[in-house]
Amino acid sequence: MLHRSLFQKPIIWSRGLSVCANTAQGAGLHRENFYGVSKDDLINKLKQWNQPIFRADQLRSWIYDKGVTSFELMQDLPKSLRTQLAEAYSIGTLSVKSELVSQKDGTIKRAYELPDKQIIESVLMPYEDGRYTACISSQAGCAMGCTFCATGQMGFFRQLTSDEIFEQVQRFSAELRVRKEPGRLSNVVFMGMGEPLANYKNVMEAVRRIIAELGIGARHITISTVGLVPRIKKFAEEDIQVGLAVSLHQTQDAARSALMPVNMRYNIAELLRACKDYTHKTKRRVTFEWALIRDQTDSSDTAHELGKLLQGMLCHVNVIPLNPTAGFAGKPTPKADVSNFCSILGRYGISCTPRVRRGIDIDAGCGQLRADLLKRESLQNQAKEIHVEANGSFKTRKPIEPS
Ligand code: SF4
Repeated sequence: MLHRSLFQKPIIWSRGLSVCANTAQGAGLHRENFYGVSKDDLINKLKQWNQPIFRADQLRSWIYDKGVTSFELMQDLPKSLRTQLAEAYSIGTLSVKSELVSQKDGTIKRAYELPDKQIIESVLMPYEDGRYTACISSQAGCAMGCTFCATGQMGFFRQLTSDEIFEQVQRFSAELRVRKEPGRLSNVVFMGMGEPLANYKNVMEAVRRIIAELGIGARHITISTVGLVPRIKKFAEEDIQVGLAVSLHQTQDAARSALMPVNMRYNIAELLRACKDYTHKTKRRVTFEWALIRDQTDSSDTAHELGKLLQGMLCHVNVIPLNPTAGFAGKPTPKADVSNFCSILGRYGISCTPRVRRGIDIDAGCGQLRADLLKRESLQNQAKEIHVEANGSFKTRKPIEPS
């Protein structure tokens, strides 16, 4: 339980972060992001500066092993080199815009602001056994338009760079190392904002760096997709042990298309063919994600349909009661019906895990914190506009708090 107590004082935790946040905030656009610098490039730079090349290992150890986020703290480097480094590089570009800590399960949900003011979200989930899982974003917004998802409801803004993806993981990893807690970041899931396979190149680049720099095994990384069939085929060709999760959520095309517009492009039959090919090629199972929405996707009949659809496939099903969002009327399935759904799948020889909704008291579903922040800002702007109209000139006043 020690790791859990880490999150019982969110204010202290947040203050602890300010070193990182301020460092990143001060990251000028003209300084190179250290997270994007390869070891070879760093060695070349050190040679240019007439520094011994062993400094590269020292420097990287400070950042990746010890989680230090300021060159000034690297005490075994000469002062002049520390200054030179701080002038040439920023350590990251993400600034913490908002952070929520669940009092129920210790889940941390964080909104980062990017240099171009885009907002993305990352979530850190602690588990009883000392493991931590980071759920990270691959895009700012998302073009897939899944109706139940707060990110899908806001639309697409841009792809994240591999540096921005990597930094989300590095930040959590570093903070856990700095605090010298017994647990460490052990798992990464690409289930935050965005469709990871729609940002394929940057995601794969970030994945390789997470494995190489942070020592997180490929088998502990999962990429989730709504079902971009050509990219699933491409992913099957990768020589990497990273897991694949597919959001299925419906067994009938019409219903799935209504929930997930991507189904109009790649229907269920085509998607499952690609998944079967993937399992044959890689010998790895596919995990299917199934959101249990009360009276929509949780009946016994639906469980039987799903069982028949997946029977004989090398797969696993994760069922998770819906995380309610403001723009979608669906409700989560009650606990008893979750067990019933899983036991029916078991009769078809399909393993099924009911996943616990994490951070439910802090709206940890993807896109919810960003939507809340924008709602607040919009209300603040409305407050300003109302004041301008009333007086003909702008004066600051206390913003309206959203209800
Ligand atoms: S569920 Fe994933 S793919 Fe669908 S809209 Fe949300 S972020 Fe995009």
